[in-house]
Amino acid sequence: MLISVDREVCQGHGQCAMVDESLFPLDPAGYSAVGDDGVAVEPGKEEDAELGVNVCPVQALRLD
Ligand code: SF4
Repeated sequence: MLISVDREVCQGHGQCAMVDESLFPLDPAGYSAVGDDGVAVEPGKEEDAELGVNVCPVQALRLD
Protein backbone atom coordinates (compact mmCIF):
# COMPACT_ATOMS: atom_id res chain seq x y z
CA MET A 1 0.00 0.00 0.00
CA LEU A 2 1.31 3.41 -0.97
CA ILE A 3 0.03 6.90 -0.16
CA SER A 4 0.56 9.58 -2.77
CA VAL A 5 -0.52 13.20 -3.04
CA ASP A 6 -1.37 15.57 -5.86
CA ARG A 7 0.43 18.64 -4.59
CA GLU A 8 -1.39 20.91 -7.00
CA VAL A 9 -4.65 19.90 -5.34
CA CYS A 10 -3.52 19.93 -1.68
CA GLN A 11 -4.69 23.10 0.07
CA GLY A 12 -2.91 22.60 3.37
CA HIS A 13 -5.95 21.77 5.47
CA GLY A 14 -3.89 19.32 7.56
CA GLN A 15 -6.67 16.88 8.41
CA CYS A 16 -4.62 14.00 7.05
CA ALA A 17 -1.80 14.66 9.53
CA MET A 18 -4.30 14.74 12.39
CA VAL A 19 -5.01 11.09 11.64
CA ASP A 20 -1.35 10.04 11.63
CA GLU A 21 1.62 12.37 11.20
CA SER A 22 4.01 9.61 10.18
CA LEU A 23 1.76 8.49 7.32
CA PHE A 24 0.79 12.03 6.31
CA PRO A 25 3.71 14.35 7.01
CA LEU A 26 3.29 18.09 6.42
CA ASP A 27 5.83 20.64 5.26
CA PRO A 28 6.47 23.78 7.37
CA ALA A 29 3.73 25.62 5.47
CA GLY A 30 1.18 22.92 6.36
CA TYR A 31 0.96 21.27 2.97
CA SER A 32 1.35 17.56 2.45
CA ALA A 33 5.00 16.50 2.41
CA VAL A 34 4.30 13.05 1.00
CA GLY A 35 7.20 12.83 -1.44
CA ASP A 36 7.25 11.94 -5.10
CA ASP A 37 7.84 8.30 -4.21
CA GLY A 38 4.87 8.29 -1.84
CA VAL A 39 4.72 6.90 1.68
CA ALA A 40 4.65 3.14 2.18
CA VAL A 41 2.00 2.04 4.67
CA GLU A 42 3.44 -0.16 7.39
CA PRO A 43 1.58 -3.33 8.31
CA GLY A 44 -1.14 -2.54 10.83
CA LYS A 45 -1.55 1.07 9.63
CA GLU A 46 -3.90 0.34 6.75
CA GLU A 47 -7.01 1.64 8.52
CA ASP A 48 -5.32 4.93 9.41
CA ALA A 49 -4.11 5.23 5.82
CA GLU A 50 -7.64 4.83 4.47
CA LEU A 51 -9.06 7.21 7.05
CA GLY A 52 -6.43 9.88 6.33
CA VAL A 53 -7.02 9.68 2.60
CA ASN A 54 -10.77 9.92 3.10
CA VAL A 55 -10.69 12.96 5.41
CA CYS A 56 -8.88 15.15 2.90
CA PRO A 57 -11.54 17.72 1.94
CA VAL A 58 -10.15 18.21 -1.56
CA GLN A 59 -9.35 14.56 -2.43
CA ALA A 60 -5.66 15.31 -2.88
CA LEU A 61 -4.54 11.95 -1.49
CA ARG A 62 -4.55 8.55 -3.11
CA LEU A 63 -4.04 5.05 -1.80
CA ASP A 64 -2.74 2.36 -4.16
S1 SF4 B 1 -5.87 16.94 4.22
FE1 SF4 B 1 -5.62 17.11 1.99
S2 SF4 B 1 -5.47 19.29 1.64
FE2 SF4 B 1 -5.05 18.94 3.79
S3 SF4 B 1 -2.81 18.73 3.96
FE3 SF4 B 1 -3.69 16.70 3.77
S4 SF4 B 1 -3.58 16.33 1.56
FE4 SF4 B 1 -3.40 18.51 1.82
